[in-house]
Formats: sequence, C-alpha cells, structure tokens
Amino acid sequence: MAQITVVGCGVSGLTCALRLQEENHEITIISRDLPAETTSSAAGAVWYGYGTGKVRQWAQVSLQRFTQLIPVADSGVVEIRLREVSPSPLQVPWFKDELPFCERMPQADLPQGYADGYIMDVPLVEPPPYLQYLKTQFEQNGGRIVQRNLHSLDELATDNTMIINCSGLGARELAHDDHIFPIRGQTVRVDAPDIQQGFMDDDSFTYIFPRSDGVFLGGILQPNQDSLTIDASDTSDILQRCTKIEASIQQANILGYTVGLRPGRHAVRLETEQLTDSCTVIHNYGHAGLGFTLSWGCAEDVAELVGWLNITP
Ligand SMILES: Cc1cc2nc3c(=O)[nH]c(=O)nc-3n(C[C@H](O)[C@H](O)[C@H](O)COP(=O)(O)OP(=O)(O)OC[C@H]3O[C@@H](n4cnc5c(N)ncnc54)[C@H](O)[C@@H]3O)c2cc1C
Repeated sequence: MAQITVVGCGVSGLTCALRLQEENHEITIISRDLPAETTSSAAGAVWYGYGTGKVRQWAQVSLQRFTQLIPVADSGVVEIRLREVSPSPLQVPWFKDELPFCERMPQADLPQGYADGYIMDVPLVEPPPYLQYLKTQFEQNGGRIVQRNLHSLDELATDNTMIINCSGLGARELAHDDHIFPIRGQTVRVDAPDIQQGFMDDDSFTYIFPRSDGVFLGGILQPNQDSLTIDASDTSDILQRCTKIEASIQQANILGYTVGLRPGRHAVRLETEQLTDSCTVIHNYGHAGLGFTLSWGCAEDVAELVGWLNITP
C-alpha cells in the first residue's frame, strides 16, 4: 500500500487527504497546527466562482461537492441567499445555471449607491464545524494526524515516496518559494439574528454572511501584512461599511473576531517536483482568498497526478 504524507491540516490538506482516501491510499497528515489554529479556520467562507480557465474548473468541482454536503448533518456546509452587488454593471455570472437560484436584482431592490446586483443561493462553509467534519471523516477512514513543525520537506524524504505539500503560507520556507506572501484578513462576528440574507460587494470588499454562530462581517485585504493582532481601526471600518447595508448591525453585540493570513501568490501552485530519486512532492498551495472555493477541484487534480505517477494503493 502506498504511503502518502500530506503536509498541512487546513482546508487544502484535509480535502486532499480525504480525496486520496477515496482512492484507497493510506494517508498521514503532518502539520504544525491542528485545524482550529489554521488560516482556514478564520475564513468566511463562501463559495464564489471567481476566475477563468483552471480556476473556474476547480471552483466548479468544489461547487458540486459542497452542494452534496449541504444536506449532510454536521458538515458545516449550508446554503445562503446572497446578494452580490456592484456600483457598476456586472457580467452574468458564468455559474448562473449551476446554482439552484440566481437572478438579476430589480433596480428597486439594490441598496443605495449600487448600479447592479444578482441574488443567488450559494454554499456557505462554516470553517470550524466543516474542518472538524473533514478531520473526523479522515480519522474514521483510518487516517492519522501527527503534529510536528517541519523546517524542510527533506525531513520527510527518506521515509516517503510521495508528499502532498498543502502548507499554505508555510510553503515560503518549506518549498523555498519567494512568490508567496501573506494577505491579512480580519472579520467581526455579531449577534444580529434578524439578518437572514448574505451580502457581498467586491468593489469595497464588504461582506455579510449569516452563520449559525452569528453574522460574519468583513472584510479586510492587506497584502504583505502579517500581524495576527485584532486591529481596532479595521474593526470600526468593517462595522461602518456593514452598517450602511444592514442598519441593525450598529446595535448588535460583538461575539468575536478572526484574523488570518491568506496564502497569496500570483497563481496557485499545483505541480509535481522531484525532491529526491525516490520521493516526489505534489505542491498544492497559494490559494489566496479562494482556498475553500478551490479545495475540492484542486484535490481532484492532486488525485489525478498521484494516479499518473503510478502510486498504486
Ligand atoms: C478573513 C478570511 C476570509 C476568507 N474568506 C474566504 C471565502 O469566503 N472563501 C474562500 O474560498 N476562501 C476564503 N478565505 C481564504 C482561505 O481561508 C484560504 O485560502 C485557505 O484557508 C488556505 O488553506 P490552506 O489549507 O491552503 O492553508 P492553511 O489553512 O494556512 O493551512 C496550512 C497548513 O500548513 C501547516 N504548516 C505550515 N507550515 C508548516 C510547517 N513548517 N510544518 C508543518 N506544518 C506546516 C499549518 O500548520 C496548516 O495546518 C478567507 C481567508 C481569510 C483570512
């Protein structure tokens, strides 16, 4: 049986590990952090079909998987009604016909200052329960998680024929990749049960996602900032922007915050590298603000690469 080690326990690592278990591979995950301490745990996290080409294909595969998970109890995947608005005309979303509901918003329904919008039903992933769900599935399938901080992938090369590198920002050191950089994000979670619909404005990067643990407000997008401290001015900026859309947020109690460093890169790195004569690495990192949206699609390609490399279960 082929031994495969996945590095990383965020959404990329856990999804790849589960996908490879579907092909009957025996998987060990090695990770510095457990799921709750990863960037993945700090995310929103809505599925949204950005991009073209390969990115679009990855998003499409993930949409199918998340749609299947919506009715699964404890999966942490739910469906929300989302208003996506813009101060300028929007193109018809390429995924319009792949969603159960997606329509152009009537002008009268647009919030003040917006010129166009779509209202749609999309999967929303609640990262804490979702990551726990993936971890439980992985362990029930016989997978093992070892908590360990690696300084180099070479540390694993002697015992492994195949490493899947899902180390997010950690790839800067582990894959010696200077192209990877942090994109700091912060969110605020409030108690506002009257808010039932999601909202997203990519122009000002403002979003509102009603979740089971409160309403998740964002966002912040700060390239090359790596502070994990909650910033009070970011908090008031988020609250101010979201209150313009939903007035009840002004009075809402704050339930919590998250701060996370998205693994930024000019493009996702999903490719093989020969580490030694007997050890191949498949890199899968650099998903920036789309790690959930791309997770199942990237895991599909990783599984395909493992197949091509003739790693038989
Ligand atoms: C505020 C915020 C909102 C977001 N909203 C969305 C959204 O709505 N939709 C969406 O699709 N995406 C969203 N994202 C982006 C998404 O969260 C990331 O793209 C995704 O979490 C990246 O996952 P990952 O598994 O690749 O990396 P990570 O979650 O960072 O996991 C990396 C793993 O590698 C391990 N590791 C790193 N270095 C080492 C080492 N040296 N040794 C051992 N292990 C190591 C870590 O411990 C960790 O387990 C958001 C992100 C933030 C911060």
